[in-house]
Amino acid sequence: MSTPTLLILPGDGIGPEVMDQVTRVIDWFGDKRDMPFDVSTDLVGGAAYDAHGVPLHDDTMAKAQEVDAVLLGAVGGPQYDDLDFRVKPERGLLRLRKEMDLFANLRPAQCFDALADFSSLKKDIVAGLDIMIVRELTSGVYFGEPRGIIEEGNERVGINTQRYTESEIERAARAAFELAMRRNKKVCSMEKANVMESGILWREVVTDVAKDYPEVELSHMYADNGAMQLVRAPKQFDVIVTDNLFGDILSDCAAMLTGSLGMLPSASLGAPMANGRPKAMYEPVHGSAPDIAGQGKANPIACILSFAMALRYSFDQGDEATRLEQAIEAVLASGARTGDLMGPEGGTPLSTAEMGDAIIAALDASL
Ligand code: NAD
Repeated sequence: MSTPTLLILPGDGIGPEVMDQVTRVIDWFGDKRDMPFDVSTDLVGGAAYDAHGVPLHDDTMAKAQEVDAVLLGAVGGPQYDDLDFRVKPERGLLRLRKEMDLFANLRPAQCFDALADFSSLKKDIVAGLDIMIVRELTSGVYFGEPRGIIEEGNERVGINTQRYTESEIERAARAAFELAMRRNKKVCSMEKANVMESGILWREVVTDVAKDYPEVELSHMYADNGAMQLVRAPKQFDVIVTDNLFGDILSDCAAMLTGSLGMLPSASLGAPMANGRPKAMYEPVHGSAPDIAGQGKANPIACILSFAMALRYSFDQGDEATRLEQAIEAVLASGARTGDLMGPEGGTPLSTAEMGDAIIAALDASL
């Protein structure tokens, strides 16, 4: 097979700082595991606006469509807050998601034992937690028509429409079942079939898709109950699949079970390309953190874990992804922490590059 291609878009703020550490990890896999990647780098967000007057150049968009996977750092910053809506840094990110048709957003909520004290929940409820939320990303109430604010009588009315076609539900459900097959073979589908017709259709289509995955245990839950269960007993779940709106809320809720923003990766996947790999973009959940940008304080782990997801979901290298995750776990277990992970007991935080050093050393130790 030809060398896999990666497009790296570091973006703004801490994006380039954390991406430097990811690049070291990518190089490590090339040198030590004989897994070279053909890497190119380009601009997105405010950095692209500064260079080209747009948050994503057409040439960059074209490159993103061609590569096997895109790795993105973060976009945005206060210096861009007053820009016209159409050229704001976030528009670059939205254009990538839309034109690559990345319909399944994967957000793992995984609690490293060493960080269990960071959760707002009791340690025994989150220790060892490993769940995956699949959020439908390109349809639903954020996109449905009609929408807008209209005059009706003597007052205004705000309108949004929840709309899902069977095929949109089916492809999101299929992504969830495929994932479950690589994990603990459980899917819980969340909607509000008790009060929403789109929820009734969602439930019917997911139930149909499940027939193709007889090994996977399917359950259904109303999304409000799902939110309660996520904070009551999150370890009951393996893969959760839900729509765009509920997924937005439930994935943030689940993510916070595990502590710091600096630890959270994500993947957005689309349809398979000619080579069988899905269209894919991997990015940390956090933003550009302007309050700490340029100071070497950012935690690179969320971005490095995003690359681990790329190894697993784009490059079929699940064992190598696990190697990387275990290296990070070992580093955390040794007590190494960036500033965002410092507990009340204090200590000296590692810089972004020192955390990168520690992870590379743990990878070396894994050989
Ligand atoms: P943020 O995620 O950038 O930061 C929130 C807080 O978490 C800050 O205190 C920050 O220092 C801290 N933090 C975030 N990531 C960290 C890391 N890796 N290591 C250590 N600490 C970390 O969110 P915000 O402050 O609301 O937004 C800042 C900018 O980022 C805005 O312009 C916003 O639009 C943009 N943003 C971009 C994305 C993205 O690119 N996907 C996502 C969210 C926000």
